[in-house]
Amino acid sequence: MTYFSDVKAVTPHYDSLTRTDFCFECGKSIENGVVLYDGYVERHSEKTISLHPACAAVLGQRLIADGYVNRYKN
Ligand SMILES: [Zn+2]
Repeated sequence: MTYFSDVKAVTPHYDSLTRTDFCFECGKSIENGVVLYDGYVERHSEKTISLHPACAAVLGQRLIADGYVNRYKN
């Protein structure tokens, strides 16, 4: 994850799944700061999603809440 204070000045490391100024979590436009998160879409192919900083915090907490209690289940 990487934070940028100006979404208009961002150069993602990988191609984006959505527009860089579109929040993956809430579906609204990002006007200022943005958090980019890189992940795999195939074994050797990474893509980037964009999030409002607050939405990144919500997404992270949801992942922890759902993942932590089930971390040993497959
Ligand atoms: Zn958002």
